[in-house]
Amino acid sequence: AIMVAMSVATVAEVYGELQRAAGAAARLLELLAVNSEIKNPENPQDAQLQNNAGLPAISLENISFNYPSRPDVSALNKISLSISQGQTVAIVGPSGAGKTTLFELLQRFYDPAHGAIKFHDVNIKDISLTTLRNKMGTVAQNPILFSSDVMHNIRYGNPNATDEQVYAAAKHAHADEFIKQLPQGYNSFLGEQGVRLSGGQKQRIVLARAILKDPEILLLDEATSALDAQSEHHVQAALEHLMQNRTTLIIAHRLATVKHADVIVVMENGEIKATGSHQQLLASSPLYQRLCELQFNKH
Ligand code: ADP
Ligand code: MG
Repeated sequence: AIMVAMSVATVAEVYGELQRAAGAAARLLELLAVNSEIKNPENPQDAQLQNNAGLPAISLENISFNYPSRPDVSALNKISLSISQGQTVAIVGPSGAGKTTLFELLQRFYDPAHGAIKFHDVNIKDISLTTLRNKMGTVAQNPILFSSDVMHNIRYGNPNATDEQVYAAAKHAHADEFIKQLPQGYNSFLGEQGVRLSGGQKQRIVLARAILKDPEILLLDEATSALDAQSEHHVQAALEHLMQNRTTLIIAHRLATVKHADVIVVMENGEIKATGSHQQLLASSPLYQRLCELQFNKH
């Protein structure tokens, strides 16, 4: 009986992995296809970013967006939001609310149909794509590791980093210890043919990469799946290090993350339904109450 139960669990697990991979691949293909419409500005205003350093890190001004393949569905509808430098903003909402779409627009994989996205009061359409994407670091839900060694996987965050800087980033990500215990340490090969890492270890590699990149703005899509307690603790510590003194937007699935945010944004059907602190929203937003009861992981 135990054997049967195990194999059913394994099939379900593998099936879930495949579905996730297929979803990610479809998304990536779509982005590549659409990407050609996103052009570098003719007169980049990158220098203005420095002059305006004191202005809000991000402002969303009444943005609306539909995916080209689904012009009838409003993926984002009249979103307005101002985020100060160093703020941590938790974005919550049911599946399909538009959370991931918002991250895609911030990175300018698509342009909004209406409204403007500004960094330090400069429209992101007027910022060169290299500058824009260098400003941002993303940590996705399902970390993608390259078929290469640990060193390369971390250095991807900043190709000019020295070995010492890679080690330091790994230490801050609480990854150095387990990396050193791999058969070839930092030269161990990752990916399909390489050493198998746990979910928490993969996340720490990706966090080390982000720490090395040292982006001004951090876009985090918090993992939904639970890690073992030990890994969980290390990942949390790494995340806290990364978020310190950095403007951070988190698509949040854990109650603890939500509570620690400076402001919580509640989304549904492409709209912002409410913003506020945990206590304020508990008192005022039925949608938020529902999310707290049903959706957030209880740890
Ligand atoms: P969330 O991240 O909050 O779950 P998404 O931003 O992924 O929500 O989706 C918002 C809406 O846009 C949903 O209606 C979803 O079905 C739609 N959508 C998401 N990605 C695409 C896409 N690549 N093409 C067409 N529609 C999409
Ligand atoms: Mg999403």
